[in-house]
Amino acid sequence: MSQPIKIEPDTAVDLGDFDPDFHAGAADRAEAEAELDKNVRAMEHLASRLYAEHRQALLIVLQGMDTSGKDGTIRHALRGFNPLLCDVVPFKAPTETERDHDFLWRIHREVPARGRIGIFNRSHYEDIVTVRVRKLAPKRAWKLRFKAINGFERLLVHSGTTIVKCFLHISKDEQRERLQSRLDDPDKRWKFRVGDLDDRKLWDNFQQAYGDAIGRTSTEHAPWYIIPANTKWRRDLVVSRIVRETLERMDPRFPLEEEGLDGVVVE
Ligand code: AMP
Ligand code: MG
Repeated sequence: MSQPIKIEPDTAVDLGDFDPDFHAGAADRAEAEAELDKNVRAMEHLASRLYAEHRQALLIVLQGMDTSGKDGTIRHALRGFNPLLCDVVPFKAPTETERDHDFLWRIHREVPARGRIGIFNRSHYEDIVTVRVRKLAPKRAWKLRFKAINGFERLLVHSGTTIVKCFLHISKDEQRERLQSRLDDPDKRWKFRVGDLDDRKLWDNFQQAYGDAIGRTSTEHAPWYIIPANTKWRRDLVVSRIVRETLERMDPRFPLEEEGLDGVVVE
């Protein structure tokens, strides 16, 4: 069994075709954790070059159903990024002020500046998924947003930002277990919202809306990756591979050589 992780442009995506337990070439936990450690160290180094180079930026978008592991991915797979050069930005339900602007207004001001890495914990994709499923805006409003998002992301790419979008794909059974353990574990209970159960009732609608969103916004310049996320260590490994490879392709360089500093001696 094999399935793509990276979604090619103009693909119709049915999440039912993607197995949240897909092995993704990682069968053994100890091996996966060793590879993750290596990736984390490589990413740490690449990020410091990105910061020093001060020419490009990296935006990582994390989406997924409740309990899909967005926080855990940041804590584990992306743990190597120095806080000096990395911003984690959570997007909650928009405030009244935010709702008085276009949906990209609050997003645009949080995108990473040159030399930096931005991690979006939820994002503008809420505005074509959650808003659609919970009927928070009429269809005529959200259906215009696919094009707006593709144009917005192209603008960022043209300005030197590389974009990676990860959908953390879990099964409905896995979500039941994770929600239940949030309820049962006093250390996790704070994460539980009664509203999570309402969203769970709309599971199929969410899967459909996510498939549609991913299919229509996976582009050459800003691809989507569907991460098999039922197993946490496998999820972390797959995300770390994608981010490491992306940073390697960006190939940030320390700027020193260009400054003619070779041979300068500090007295
Ligand atoms: P959490 O990520 O669990 O802290 O929850 C954040 C909540 O904010 C989720 O229920 C999201 O669906 C919701 N949310 C985030 N962005 C939007 C948006 N643009 N419109 C409506 N709800 C949103
Ligand atoms: Mg939540």
